[in-house]
Amino acid sequence: MADQLIYLDNAATSWPKPDSVGEAMVHFLTHKGGNPGRGGHRLAREASQVLEEARTKLAKLVHAPCPQRMILSHGCTDALNLAIHGVLRADMRNRCDGTKPHVVTTAIEHNAVLRTLHCYATSDLITMTVVACDDQGYVHPEKLIEACTDCTVLMTLSHASNVLGTIQKIPETIKAVRAHNEDILIMVDAAQTAGHFPIDVQAWDIDLLPLAGHKGLRGPTGTGGLYVSPRAYPDECDKTRVFCQRRGGTGSMAPGLEMPTNLPDALEAGTSNAVGFAGLIAALDALTPEVHEHEMAMTEQVLNGLHALDAVTIYGLPTIEGRTPVVLFNIEGVHPREVMAKLDAEHGIAVRGGVHCAPLLHEAIGTRSDGGVRVSPGSGTTARQIEIFLDAIRAMCPQNV
Ligand code: PMP
Repeated sequence: MADQLIYLDNAATSWPKPDSVGEAMVHFLTHKGGNPGRGGHRLAREASQVLEEARTKLAKLVHAPCPQRMILSHGCTDALNLAIHGVLRADMRNRCDGTKPHVVTTAIEHNAVLRTLHCYATSDLITMTVVACDDQGYVHPEKLIEACTDCTVLMTLSHASNVLGTIQKIPETIKAVRAHNEDILIMVDAAQTAGHFPIDVQAWDIDLLPLAGHKGLRGPTGTGGLYVSPRAYPDECDKTRVFCQRRGGTGSMAPGLEMPTNLPDALEAGTSNAVGFAGLIAALDALTPEVHEHEMAMTEQVLNGLHALDAVTIYGLPTIEGRTPVVLFNIEGVHPREVMAKLDAEHGIAVRGGVHCAPLLHEAIGTRSDGGVRVSPGSGTTARQIEIFLDAIRAMCPQNV
């Protein structure tokens, strides 16, 4: 068993977090541990302030028009579920012509999207079109436009694939789709891009932006957010296109059985992960452009090293241009799970091997049955660690030994 630890699985969750994240969480638990929004006492008020600060910072990060449109969630899956169930249920309630809502989704989506939609489609509650991607992982706007019908209510497009790291050209794509359909709600899954890549929900005309706090933003697990646009949730609340299926206490309108209709309360029932958001604030404060530059430099070193090995196939884009700090590869004749297990057991290197949570993308790139090895460097990765990783891979390649 190796005594070193080289963590190259930052696309799953970033590690290590900045020291200030843990410190802020300990400080919260020690000094501010009230229930946010519940009770007028000091600890409750201070916990509420933590949530509002996190909300404001996340809203600013993605250029939301106001903090209230940033719903705090327990991660990106939670935010995606809130958005998908919310839009479909609202549409089903408002639709009175006997037709079913139609959803356009893509082959690059994560299971958090696909499984949620699949459940509606197999229950015959929606119709759905899955748009293919090319072998670099790009989804072409004209295919998305072709897939739309008169009943399309929602389009989902991952900002970057968790398998290939390919970043979609979101502004151009949305502009092209909007030229044909002004009204459709467009959701962009930013799980893999928030913190790595600038996002502007207003300039890009995004309606729903689910994001994770624990990946590129380097916050704790159990944190995330969902931006909701005025098109999806207009200020006149009776026209909302996102039904709040999660119901419960919000701290506001306590005596009534109806949920409040104002954002964020309408979509944020239950006690939030305030300790997590205290950590996320510290993470957001520690985020600088240099962090991402470093991660991309490490990714380039991985790519250059792997390109030199004849027995290695790299999937997707050839260089760091247009990608997040993620590389998927396979070694000829060695199962990706074996690569992962050997790296872990013999070298203390953490990568992810096998089929990742995006089955349609694996099908598109020909790795459906075995998957691939995913390497995702982070802010704590060093050039020396990448050299050790590449040496270990080289030793597993039959013709390069
Ligand atoms: N979407 C994508 C593209 C992802 O990569 C992930 C996490 N692997 C998710 C959604 C789900 O995020 P979370 O782990 O925060 O629930």
